[in-house]
Amino acid sequence: MTQNPPEPPGEQPAAGSPGVLPLLPTRELVVFPRMVAPVFIGREKSVRAIERAFEDKSAIVLSSQRDGSVDDPTGDDLRKVGTRATVLQLFKLPDGSVKALVEGQERVRIETFEAEQPHFLVRVRPLPSPDRTAVRSRSLARRVAAEFASYVQMNPNLGDELQFVAAQAQDPDELADIVAAHLQVTTDEKQALLETVSTKQRLLLLLESLAEENAVLGLEQEIALKVQRRIEGAQRQIVLHEKLRVIRDEIEEGGEAADDESSEYAARLAEVRLSPAAVKLVERELRKLRQAPPMSPEVGVTRGLLDTVFDLPWGRLAPADVDVGAVARHLDRTHYGLKDVKDRVLEYLAVCRMRAERAGAGGADQPATILCLAGPPGTGKSSVARSIADALGRPFARVALGGVRDEAEIRGHRRTYIGSMPGRIIDGLVRAGVDNPVMLLDELDKLATDWRGDPAAALMEVLDPAHNHAFRDNYLEVEYDLSKVFFIATANDVDGIPHTLYDRLEVIHLSGYSLEEKLAIARRHLLPRVAADSGLRRGDVTFGRGVLRAVVRGYTRESGVRELERALRRIARKVARRHLEDGLGLPLRIETGDLRGYLGEAVWLDAQLGRKGRVGESLALAYTGDGGEVLTVEAAIAKGRGELVLTGQLGEVMQESAAAAWGYLLANVEHDPRLRPLLSRCRHVGRRGLDMASQDVRVHVPEGAVPKDGPSAGLALAVAMLSALGRLPVRPRVAMTGEITLGGRVLRVGGLKEKLLAAKRSGVRTVILPEANRGSIAELPSEVTAQLGFVYVTTFADALPHVFRAGSSQGTGNV
Ligand code: ADP
Repeated sequence: MTQNPPEPPGEQPAAGSPGVLPLLPTRELVVFPRMVAPVFIGREKSVRAIERAFEDKSAIVLSSQRDGSVDDPTGDDLRKVGTRATVLQLFKLPDGSVKALVEGQERVRIETFEAEQPHFLVRVRPLPSPDRTAVRSRSLARRVAAEFASYVQMNPNLGDELQFVAAQAQDPDELADIVAAHLQVTTDEKQALLETVSTKQRLLLLLESLAEENAVLGLEQEIALKVQRRIEGAQRQIVLHEKLRVIRDEIEEGGEAADDESSEYAARLAEVRLSPAAVKLVERELRKLRQAPPMSPEVGVTRGLLDTVFDLPWGRLAPADVDVGAVARHLDRTHYGLKDVKDRVLEYLAVCRMRAERAGAGGADQPATILCLAGPPGTGKSSVARSIADALGRPFARVALGGVRDEAEIRGHRRTYIGSMPGRIIDGLVRAGVDNPVMLLDELDKLATDWRGDPAAALMEVLDPAHNHAFRDNYLEVEYDLSKVFFIATANDVDGIPHTLYDRLEVIHLSGYSLEEKLAIARRHLLPRVAADSGLRRGDVTFGRGVLRAVVRGYTRESGVRELERALRRIARKVARRHLEDGLGLPLRIETGDLRGYLGEAVWLDAQLGRKGRVGESLALAYTGDGGEVLTVEAAIAKGRGELVLTGQLGEVMQESAAAAWGYLLANVEHDPRLRPLLSRCRHVGRRGLDMASQDVRVHVPEGAVPKDGPSAGLALAVAMLSALGRLPVRPRVAMTGEITLGGRVLRVGGLKEKLLAAKRSGVRTVILPEANRGSIAELPSEVTAQLGFVYVTTFADALPHVFRAGSSQGTGNV
């Protein structure tokens, strides 16, 4: 129970005179002015003293014992400086002891002990400070206040409100009391602070203590912070590990599919005999597969790679025997004619066989040179290669090279490239499923080179027997052995094959087929196949006399038989459909008149060549990658500045031969007795001779945008020019081929079979050729040369009587 101070009694206290007050000895407690402190009082003497003060409403002096352990102190045991205080509350406890709340008022010095019983009575004198408001004290006070603020802040036992208490101090001495009251220092130190009279001294003492305390607290705080961080760090680790574990568990649950998948791959890894490097690669990728989230793009890349690795043959081989006889029989069965080609293929295979026997089992059998079948499209290059594969019993893989300009198409993209894939060679092996397939490198001459690298160089590596056992595809990354692959290349035009590659090739030329050959191929090979493909039986469709010939003549214009095969397919499909839909009866015989119904209007008409000669036009026989062709060469003389103007996609060599032809004519036309008469009606010949300074000669070779090149049109160019100059019509259906020199000599040319076949297709009757080619004509099969007249010439002048009708010069022409 708390008791409030009673009303002041009318009587003077026993202590009597002012300045005599009861004294409460304290143990380990120093009370400062303005400090409110609870005190527990157990000693009888002390209880009496405080009860007296409380009852008398007088002040009480608190003085600390020099030695707290002394139970019954005498005056000598007490410090001589204490605090005058008032008793705010008094609470009597059942055991007779007292709990009181006291508030310090001022410091006092004990002058005398007036009594010791029943409690201490002392005479005291206030202890004022002489410098409590001095300037020096004020400035010190500010520093003390600042230090105290930090002290409060750092000391966890003190409430933050104490900062404001200090700020409310009226003067430096008051501040000193407040600060001293809250400072957690020893009793002796507190007592020293209480006893020090000078405010400045007190503040200095406080500063010292505060600085010391703050340093200790700062250090403690720092350590605490470090400890906390360490604890937090450790906890963080624990928490993160725990989270990671949970996430892993989640992934593993959702990742069962990935696990299934990776164990499937792992099973394949056990089955397939990969190279050690490939095993490493697979293991690495499997790890990735297990760790990556199932939907991540990386998984797709990894899967793609693993599939490629496992789809590769890795040592799986087809029987490697080379039975030359079997190949010969098979080629004869599947291909008509091509005797030379077949012979050379068989020779090549015989070499392969010999090498294989010498190298022993598993040895490389292909020589350093690669077979290259060269010729116009549709002449059977790919199908001969396929037949070789079939006859050898090896899978066949075609690798198209036409238009390949990026090295990566051969060697693969790095996997960092989006949408990366292995190169075509590795892809070919995957398709073939064995390490020793027949691989057709189709259209070697159509390889291109640009900034994306040199695919030809990459191909060199593929074909080089010194390197191809360790071919490195960028996508696959690990080396793969290509040395057992049997490569065969094809090209339309050998001139287009990169030189480095050409040196590695054993080129076998396939020339175009004559009409008779085409008919034979159609009857024996194309028709049965085409009919079977359309679900027709052998004999369901037959052709009347001359019908196939009409198909070839009217609907195809080619050296090979591709268009012909296509036309026959169209016929077969239509027959099959009409049979099903309209009940068309089988077997069916198709006559020439029916062709329109099956193939539409004929595309090529037999009489393409005019029967009338034209001025300024000649026919040149040309050889292109697509076979032979009859080109019309047009020349015209027009007003100008004496220039030779060429149009119609002429290649450089052809331009040069046009210049040579024109140069020859300008130099000789007036002086050569055989040429000069032809100019009798030429208006460009004045009294002083041929005046070409104000005339241009224009040369044009039509036929669409097909690029034309080569020197063999020289003769035809000169004829067209002379025809234009002299206004002489050229005899119809006379075609020519031959290179011309500035001196007018006509030089040997190539590609005769194709040229003659083209001439026949176009309805040419007479062919003018270099004398030097007489021998090569004699070697051609008779069906190629039949129905053609040949004129062999050594010079340009030799050709004139066969090109122009004697005295046929006329004044009008179409130029
Ligand atoms: P290329 O590869 O030379 O362009 P292909 O091999 O594709 O030509 O031949 C085109 C078609 O003509 C194929 O169906 C092929 O079987 C056929 N063919 C070509 N030449 C012959 C031939 N001499 N005997 C039988 N069929 C042939």
